[in-house]
Amino acid sequence: MFELVFLGTAASAPSIQRGLPAAMLLHRGYRFLIDCGEGTQRQILRSGLGFKRLDRVLLTHGHLDHILGLGGLASTFARWEALGEMQIYGGRAALHRVRDLMRVAFGAGEARVNIGYNVIAPGVLMEDDLFRLSVFPVEHRRAEAFGFTFEEKSRRPFLAEKAEALGVPFGPIRRDLVQGRAVTLADGRTVTPDDVLGPLVTGARLVFVGDAGRVDNLVEAAAGADLLAIEATYTEDEREIAADFGHLTARQAAWLAREASVGMLVLHHISRRFSTRQIMEEASRVFPQTAVAHDFDLFRVVKQREVERLDVRRRGDDETVGEPRGEAGG
Ligand SMILES: [Zn+2]
Ligand SMILES: [Zn+2]
Repeated sequence: MFELVFLGTAASAPSIQRGLPAAMLLHRGYRFLIDCGEGTQRQILRSGLGFKRLDRVLLTHGHLDHILGLGGLASTFARWEALGEMQIYGGRAALHRVRDLMRVAFGAGEARVNIGYNVIAPGVLMEDDLFRLSVFPVEHRRAEAFGFTFEEKSRRPFLAEKAEALGVPFGPIRRDLVQGRAVTLADGRTVTPDDVLGPLVTGARLVFVGDAGRVDNLVEAAAGADLLAIEATYTEDEREIAADFGHLTARQAAWLAREASVGMLVLHHISRRFSTRQIMEEASRVFPQTAVAHDFDLFRVVKQREVERLDVRRRGDDETVGEPRGEAGG
């Protein structure tokens, strides 16, 4: 299961309803902040998610509306939240800019929080037994921009009844089978993984794209995602402006969703020149399973279920957010 919370959904400048770009991705114990526009700290507080374990920041690119909140966040971490470390992942140019920002904000001593600057490149960024985060390139003006794919690894469920019937004892022998190795039992019989593992279950997949100037080069990265989040700054009425500034129209984003056969499209990075309704109407004509994100929307992605949309502020207790609640595989 993945939960994607939008903390800011405006483009370039905030509006009364929309804060500057930031989102949080929750998966088991992981919490990733994606971009950190000015004002993000307060949005985090209002969301009820809090700062706990929020030490990983992914940057789609280095434009100011996506990074200016990092100085304030680092200051709060150091002074109030006793979070001693912050790992920032981004392109070289974005990290350079963030480093400059920190230097100006905190002087030579830098922030009293240990900031790690991690250069990212297309490919796997991190993974564990159950989950993989990978990075792909996005074209957006001259910026070195990236999108992120969060996916649960596909796996074959262990069929305990079958193992029982075959007399496979508990313990390391079962782990070997799960990991794909045949085992020999005490009585000399051989049991193979195929004897005790069910058919492959594919995991949930969520693709996040920030600012983008074109979509024809993103079909492969987005293909088959359960949820695709991507910017839609403009509508077709301002298609030329969109092209000049390296942004998308709602229709272009919806075209990508359709071409890539995603389960649901979620649009964000909305210019204040357009209403939610205008963006929604244009996109849903091309791709009906569309939502236009509001600040504090939470989208819950569980494989083989419809994506749920909730208001994160009504979730109450922050401990329950991002923790598996009894669903198989979390
Ligand atoms: Zn932007
Ligand atoms: Zn940008």
